Amino acid sequence: MMTVWVFYITAAMLGAVLGSFLNVVIHRGPTMWNLIDAPDRGNLVSPRSACPACGAKISIAHLIPLLSYAMLGGKCAACGARISLRYPLVELMGAAAGVVALLLFGLTAQAGLALIFFLFLIALGAIDLETGYLPDALTLPLIGLGLAANAFAQFTPIAGALLGAVIGYGAFRLIDMAFTRLRGVEGLGQGDAKLLAALGAWLGWAALAPVVFLAALLGLAGAGAAALGGAKLERETPVAFGPALAAAGALAMIARGLRLPFFF
Ligand SMILES: [Zn+2]
Repeated sequence: MMTVWVFYITAAMLGAVLGSFLNVVIHRGPTMWNLIDAPDRGNLVSPRSACPACGAKISIAHLIPLLSYAMLGGKCAACGARISLRYPLVELMGAAAGVVALLLFGLTAQAGLALIFFLFLIALGAIDLETGYLPDALTLPLIGLGLAANAFAQFTPIAGALLGAVIGYGAFRLIDMAFTRLRGVEGLGQGDAKLLAALGAWLGWAALAPVVFLAALLGLAGAGAAALGGAKLERETPVAFGPALAAAGALAMIARGLRLPFFF
């Protein structure tokens, strides 16, 4: 009984550490990949993390995931500027992803792959929330990884994965073209089409319809919550559908692990 807990605690710690790396990806990726017009924030290995407000280097002790945020009370040790709640949230989601992957798939290659899948979705959702973009630098590798995993039938047979990638991309491009026609504005981005292609590559074509349906519900709920929070939504407001799609993809993977119907 003891040994089981050791595995779960290790999975949570591994997930939190990887989540802490995701925070670097989320912060630096947008300037690294030229998605936004902002001063360069460095690459994924250097320079060492610094406070965005005062530039003070973060000490090694304060790089411990979750714990450091709690110890610092959510403020920079040097200047007292508030640290975005996104940092501990992403670390917490990373820890949860590690535990969920282990719960669903045990000590298997599938668990490791599911963790990678969850981590990509967390990064994509957060970057889309902050910039409005789903970078190719993440969506395209995610498509490749899904196809590679399913070349060994890890989550679905390879034929279903290939069909999933093609149908996922095609369906979204069609919806996008219809949207553009109807409203004269871009409704959904290319990035959404590539993310849906990735979800199809990982989960197979049959999961696409329930995933899109779930994402639409989550997107509406998110827009409703934002409106309640005082955000002004207009017809032309571009909808960041990516976070909802990423969340739906993660839920579909959980449903797959639990062998629930509709997601096969
Ligand atoms: Zn500071």
